[in-house]
Amino acid sequence: MDIFGIKALLISALIFIPFEHLFHERQQKTFRKGLGVDLIYVMFNGFIIKIVIILIAANALDAAAILVPQSMTNAIGGQPVWLQVAEIILITDIGVYWAHRAFHKIPALWRFHAVHHGIEELDWLGAFHSHPVDAILTKAISLTPIFFLGFSQASIAVFSVIYFWHTLLVHSNVRIPFGPLKWLIAGPQFHRWHHANQREAYDKNFAGQLPFLDVLFGTYNATGNKMPDKYGVDDPIPSSYFGQAGYPLVPRGKLPKPAVPSTEA
Ligand SMILES: [Zn+2]
Ligand SMILES: [Zn+2]
Repeated sequence: MDIFGIKALLISALIFIPFEHLFHERQQKTFRKGLGVDLIYVMFNGFIIKIVIILIAANALDAAAILVPQSMTNAIGGQPVWLQVAEIILITDIGVYWAHRAFHKIPALWRFHAVHHGIEELDWLGAFHSHPVDAILTKAISLTPIFFLGFSQASIAVFSVIYFWHTLLVHSNVRIPFGPLKWLIAGPQFHRWHHANQREAYDKNFAGQLPFLDVLFGTYNATGNKMPDKYGVDDPIPSSYFGQAGYPLVPRGKLPKPAVPSTEA
């Protein structure tokens, strides 16, 4: 088992580094600032997220055995895999949407999520750059219903592969026009406008995979081909891994300047 995600990282690097080089949206160096910190995120988050998913699955399956009629879990897990995968993407992304929105809305949660928004040179590796608390809570909220409802192992495995590559793609520094599909499938343009550090982008485009959820819940930012002026956040995020890990817990008075909370009304 690729417990630290090293194999996945190497395969991703072999695909995304040339891909970003050929079709880059913004001129950026491959060996950019913060690369070493992101590699720690890949390994540490990769490890703890695997442990957390195992714990979520075990607890949700135990609870489901008591609370959900077996006829229901059998019916859900007995559907064709493609249909289960589509349902899993919809259910998990509704969870991702609301978890993500809560991370922006609630100041104590925002300080964990601000670490992800601290990325200033957005590329595929940024997909891994999340505070462990952010990553764990989002996974718990989005995945618990999937294990609870009895989706099959095969469909969960297919979803996991799709989710992994899709997350890297939306963070990648590439220009891919999605055309009319931009409402259905999140692309880099959709998510880079979530990372833009400018007023019109704040608290928009929360979905992970399905932009129409933002349309439905009133947070969609249609940007056309326009590029953000800059990425990042005004909060004083430290540059080291351990600085970022401790950042949400440091009393505000000890920070260089006050953290800027979400602007969502
Ligand atoms: Zn966010
Ligand atoms: Zn992101």
